[in-house]
Amino acid sequence: MSIVFQIEARSGSARTGRLTTPHGEVETPVFMPVGTLASVKGVSQDILEELGVEILLGNTYHLYLRPGVEQVRKLGGLHRFMAWPRAILTDSGGFQVFSLNDLRKVTEEGVTFRSHLDGSSHFFSPESAMEAQIGLGADIIMAFDECTEYPADQARMRASMEMTARWAARSKKHFEEHKSEVPWNAASEIPTLAAKSAATMGHPPSLDPPLSGHACQTLFGIVQGGMDRALRKESAERTVEIGFPGYAIGGLSVGEPRELTREIVESTLEHLPVDKPRYLMGVGTPEEIVEYANLGVDMMDCVLPTRAARHGLLFTSEGKVSIKQARYAQDAGPLDPNCGCRVCRRYSRAYLRHLYASNEVLAQVLNTIHNLSFYLDTMRRVRHAISLGVESRFLASLWSRPKT
Ligand SMILES: [Zn+2]
Repeated sequence: MSIVFQIEARSGSARTGRLTTPHGEVETPVFMPVGTLASVKGVSQDILEELGVEILLGNTYHLYLRPGVEQVRKLGGLHRFMAWPRAILTDSGGFQVFSLNDLRKVTEEGVTFRSHLDGSSHFFSPESAMEAQIGLGADIIMAFDECTEYPADQARMRASMEMTARWAARSKKHFEEHKSEVPWNAASEIPTLAAKSAATMGHPPSLDPPLSGHACQTLFGIVQGGMDRALRKESAERTVEIGFPGYAIGGLSVGEPRELTREIVESTLEHLPVDKPRYLMGVGTPEEIVEYANLGVDMMDCVLPTRAARHGLLFTSEGKVSIKQARYAQDAGPLDPNCGCRVCRRYSRAYLRHLYASNEVLAQVLNTIHNLSFYLDTMRRVRHAISLGVESRFLASLWSRPKT
């Protein structure tokens, strides 16, 4: 078994669904928090579970450099390593190679790049990116693609899109030949730390992933084509022709205007199969994730809620709050009166402002918990609206009012 995707309700182009993975079910449309180095910065796994996170994203580029794929594989894969029994998706490493490396060299074979940590030289190809992602053992893994920079001229966008299509075919071939090497099955012989301590305490083990039978990973294809609608259409058709159980739209949110992102997303979705999950990579603000879900996107990820939280920027039902501002120093009210998260239930704006101004580690922890809670709650509302057949577009207006 790999994944099963069932659509449950539709409203216009939007849909709700259920993605069944080897490590549990995911309700869609879903926002996936980013856990770059097998950690959502500042938030422990038990709190992520409490927030209702059903799937996390890990970055192959970062995990490949540190702690290394082989180390994670020997410890039973990412789920065991980070004690996370629910679903995980890893990216292919392509985006980071392109965004973090000025010294990269791209050939038909793959990309040579230097580590941003120590300057050492490394090489990623469709085959080695598959090998790394199989070793890490996420439920959903991504084909190796070239993220086209913005702006790019027509010839460059076409050449890049065509290479991504050839790399997608190589990714699939390597994955099909090696997918049985996923570390989960071997790992089931190794008792987890949680299972050991639970056995000692007389409780049944709770951390073991709900694997059944011969579970295997799922490989998604990625559509590129820059900001050109015709190239996006061709990329979608060529990727669908290779055939994947799910499709991602990559190469957006790379500096282009937001209206252009929306236009490309909307036109690309028309060329993707309606019965397969569609994943829009690397977006966006709360308003944007509502908008894209409304267009028919099923999966999204973004560093925005976690990164903004660490800089004191908080998303609330009343608009954005920059908690560092002196105006909050005497504010005894909750961060967001309409949020039921553990932070808003317990702490005042004055206290959160004090933590941030004092550079306390707890500021990052609490801010991140709230922002993630807000994003997950937003997606819950969107799913509810779609299931009722209500235009979820109106939800965006809830968060567009500036705080006065
Ligand atoms: Zn909150």
